[in-house]
Amino acid sequence: MKDNLLKTPSSQSGLYIHIPFCKSKCGYCSFYSIKSLNPIPDFIDALQKEVKFYSKTFKSFDTVYFGGGTPSLLRPQQLETILKTVNKYYKIDPHSEITIEVNPGDVSLEYFKALHSIGINRLNIGVQSFDDQILKFLGRRHSASDALASMKDARNAGFANIGIDLIYGVQHQNIKSWEKTLQTAINLKPEHISCYQLSLAPKTPLYSTYEAGGIKLPSNKMQAKYFFNTSEILENAGYLHYEVSNFARKEYLKSKHNMKYWNHVPYLGLGPAAHSFLNNKRWWNKSAVASYIKDISQDKMPVEEQELLTPAQLQLETLFLGLRTSTGIDLKLYEKNYCTDLLEDKKSIIDTLIKNHLVEIGGDFLRPTQTGMAVADSLALI
Ligand code: SF4
Repeated sequence: MKDNLLKTPSSQSGLYIHIPFCKSKCGYCSFYSIKSLNPIPDFIDALQKEVKFYSKTFKSFDTVYFGGGTPSLLRPQQLETILKTVNKYYKIDPHSEITIEVNPGDVSLEYFKALHSIGINRLNIGVQSFDDQILKFLGRRHSASDALASMKDARNAGFANIGIDLIYGVQHQNIKSWEKTLQTAINLKPEHISCYQLSLAPKTPLYSTYEAGGIKLPSNKMQAKYFFNTSEILENAGYLHYEVSNFARKEYLKSKHNMKYWNHVPYLGLGPAAHSFLNNKRWWNKSAVASYIKDISQDKMPVEEQELLTPAQLQLETLFLGLRTSTGIDLKLYEKNYCTDLLEDKKSIIDTLIKNHLVEIGGDFLRPTQTGMAVADSLALI
């Protein structure tokens, strides 16, 4: 059980808890989950033991994020049990952001009230679209009216911090219908909106259909149009475009948990397939629920693998992640961490990027322009 994952304590880290169950699989999804809900009680027992494993390594958290899978398949009492165990072994900052991802088809006013009463203070609702034809194409098991009802119920239950997820670049969608979905979202006034471009990972049903020529994805030009229109519409509606896919109504409403991933802040991931990061080490759990439960029942950590990141790898990740955010890369911090001046080190390429209006320097930060954000993945290859 004891190994070098358990040595270095840290503070103000984030806690991610993966709930690996989905009643059905969406056609585009590559996240790990299983359809059978029977193992849930054994899973919760195992998870509570795993919470304990890291109590000498991680001392406190100021974000807790229930992701999945479909965390809203758990009853509020089950979520409360997990939170109580977390509270028992770690200091949870009283101002913590405690988020749960919910599926609009599973929830009700009573459910939301119960979540609120156990201390969950942020919702991430998997709306994806307000168009039933698109929801059907994506393989979602909720309707547009379920999504609208869940937003209303969440507000009536007292939630003041709600994010919704949307997907663009989908077959049957065009710019006009996407803008209609965006406008519906804006009218609901969520605190946070994530807009993801549909990407098809291998081994997903939609990828197989795509490979067989059954569906088409928008051209690069069209994808760029979706990106810029989205940014413009949401910014005009008062949202800050603070990461490639993420918009917040105010600075303080940015996802605190996700910011930890982008800023290399330590996080602990519990549950099957969950990833953790601390100092220069990343490790991740076994995916299969059965193996996860079995390992823990034998008092073994369910870790699949770990990797030590070299300074060069960390540097590349800092570039990759930093150039996805509107804040950009903190040049002083970069120099402190990697003993090199980024602007000197990559002078000729950065000059070219500046000349092409893809990045800019503002104070002590190198940040992407809006055009740069649209091609953020390739910018990091500098
Ligand atoms: S998108 Fe969400 S609900 Fe759909 S299969 Fe993936 S994890 Fe489950």
